[in-house]
Amino acid sequence: TTKTFDVVVVGAGPAGSAAALEVARAGYSVALVERGPFPGAKNVYGGVVYGRILDELVPRWWERMPVQRWVTRRATMVMTPTQALTLDFRTQDWGKPPYNGATAHRADLDSWLAELAVEAGAVLVPSTVVTGLLRDHAGAVVGVRTDRPDGDLTAGVVIACDGVNSFLAKEAGMYRTGHEAEHLTLGVKQTLALPREAIEERFAVSGRDGVDIEMLGCTRGIPGGGFLYTNLDSVSIGVVLGLTGVSKAKTRPEELIAELKRHPAIAPLIKGGEQIEYSAHLIPEGGYRAMPELIGDGMLVAGDAAAMCLAAGIWLEGVNFALGAGMYAGRAAAAALKAGDVSGQGLAGYRTMLERSFVLADHRKLRDLPGLVLSDRMQQNYPGMVCDLVQGLFQVDNPLPKPGLRTLLRRSAKDNGVRWRDLVRDGWTGMRG
Ligand code: FAD
Repeated sequence: TTKTFDVVVVGAGPAGSAAALEVARAGYSVALVERGPFPGAKNVYGGVVYGRILDELVPRWWERMPVQRWVTRRATMVMTPTQALTLDFRTQDWGKPPYNGATAHRADLDSWLAELAVEAGAVLVPSTVVTGLLRDHAGAVVGVRTDRPDGDLTAGVVIACDGVNSFLAKEAGMYRTGHEAEHLTLGVKQTLALPREAIEERFAVSGRDGVDIEMLGCTRGIPGGGFLYTNLDSVSIGVVLGLTGVSKAKTRPEELIAELKRHPAIAPLIKGGEQIEYSAHLIPEGGYRAMPELIGDGMLVAGDAAAMCLAAGIWLEGVNFALGAGMYAGRAAAAALKAGDVSGQGLAGYRTMLERSFVLADHRKLRDLPGLVLSDRMQQNYPGMVCDLVQGLFQVDNPLPKPGLRTLLRRSAKDNGVRWRDLVRDGWTGMRG
């Protein structure tokens, strides 16, 4: 039988476009099927790309990527409702080639990445939903079903890049335990328009330099965190919330964003910003232990579809992981087609490439971190303890003699319900990460 395409890639997010790009570059025919009217139309992220893998995928990518600002300042803020301690770093090294991170709008970024694949020869099929898998009598995947009339597409290899909660990976039986809610967070984001000059003044940057700020302790004890990023003439502010936590707390995410926007450390930065966009999306944050099978007969899974998005709230590398995984999936599919074996065994090179690269190596190294980052201790007890400790150090309480560091530590730990045993164990896990 004749195949419609050598490879069908489902989903034109970063993973899908990178996969299609590599397959097309290897000289095979590839369809990139996207349910949205254009790539990025349905996608959400905080807004920063730390895409080191682009160096390999697109030489001198910084000359072509639709960037808002180059991140030259990164800050981590630990807060309670009335306190904030910020670790704030800036370097001008990140403001020149080869750069480090950039803010970019998803619609721009995803469209640009898909365009690269199309330039290399991929066929973009927008406004088309893949509704299921086609299999042969032995169960091997041989294509996909779509919502178009006569919409079956047969292929040697199907690469599922359909994002978090991948229906295709589930249908293929690749998720052993199912995608449990505790491995998912809900990201909610507002984009606020602000004049360029206001952003430069308030965030102390000029030209195309930009800032990313991550926050811990701003979600009323619901596991998660907050973020604030600068675009050219808007800022993105949002929260990431553990799904089970947010449903138990019965708090609406927009209330938490409103609260964050009122925080004394944040309010002056975003004052007068008019909301021009509101969006929400799930994030798979279970890490290495929550990943599905990555390879089946005639099928590969990459990016968020394979839960390769470790602790996005802290690493901000979901896009980087997706680009890397997509690239290796594309290469593995091309190699399997060349060798004439698209069975799971023929596609096994995918796993090897992932294990050798940052994609799986980092996930493996950080496998214990998701549990820690999303724990109550990390969310509430430690931020409170750290803020109280620093307040104790900086506060002048004459005529009392100054308390020693040990006393302050003991007091701030006790007041915030921190147990030493947990602190030592978590410190060890954190340091290993
Ligand atoms: P996606 O980008 O989700 O792409 C999947 C694509 O598949 C979509 O285009 C979708 O429309 C399409 N699709 C799905 N099902 C079908 C179907 N059946 N048929 C056809 N098409 C289909 N990462 C970062 O690097 N930096 C950040 O700052 C950052 N912040 C984040 C903040 C939030 C609030 C969220 C939600 C995520 C954030 N992430 C961040 C994570 C990042 O967005 C993801 O890891 C990344 O988008 C994964 O890429 P992907 O290609 O695997 O999946």
